[in-house]
Amino acid sequence: AGKAGEKELHGGRLLVLTGPAGVGKGTVEVALRKKHPEVWVSVSATTRDPRPGEVNGVNYWFMSEEEFAAKEKAGEFLETALVHGMAHYGTPLKPLEEHMAVGTPTILEIDLQGARRVKEKAKELGLEVMTVFIAPPSFDELVRRLTGRGTETEEQRNRRLETAKVELAAESEFDVTIVNEHVEQAADELWNLIAKEYGVDA
Ligand code: 5GP
Repeated sequence: AGKAGEKELHGGRLLVLTGPAGVGKGTVEVALRKKHPEVWVSVSATTRDPRPGEVNGVNYWFMSEEEFAAKEKAGEFLETALVHGMAHYGTPLKPLEEHMAVGTPTILEIDLQGARRVKEKAKELGLEVMTVFIAPPSFDELVRRLTGRGTETEEQRNRRLETAKVELAAESEFDVTIVNEHVEQAADELWNLIAKEYGVDA
């Protein structure tokens, strides 16, 4: 007997999108959803502050550390992770169950720690999980992208770069790699995987 909700995930299918921060997982996901709105992408909870333009319930569920900890304790997350040693992130279970129950193609866009945890849990829960690693064309390009965002402090950026180096080396742990050189092309590759996984025509 797992935590509330976990048993409802049995037999469900899930695609996990992971990779270093700054690699463009988010933009690939947005491009995919534009072409294929039938795909549902889980909205994570986070304790970090919203960036300009981010909307609660759309980009993330923004919450305090206290609220996050209470939900974690109540078993409301499939997985949680402390990212860059700064903020907590978690995948809410309930909406995941609801979408998977009706066979909606479902994607989690999470960091490597989260992806590893979901892979482990998949066996326990009887979940079919495909893990997709989004890679940058090169490390230099990743550095350019991390610099380009310009929404963080020097210290935050350096911390992200260090994490990225370690994370790039983890590629082989995951089922498939998609190189994000051209966003539209990466989104098409992702759709082909989803179509195969869910047995729909691409
Ligand atoms: P950002 O703060 O830049 O939006 O995201 C930072 C990192 O946290 C990204 O690598 C993103 O994929 C990851 N992330 C977002 N939501 C979740 C989640 O629910 N769980 C985990 N483990 N990582 C997440």
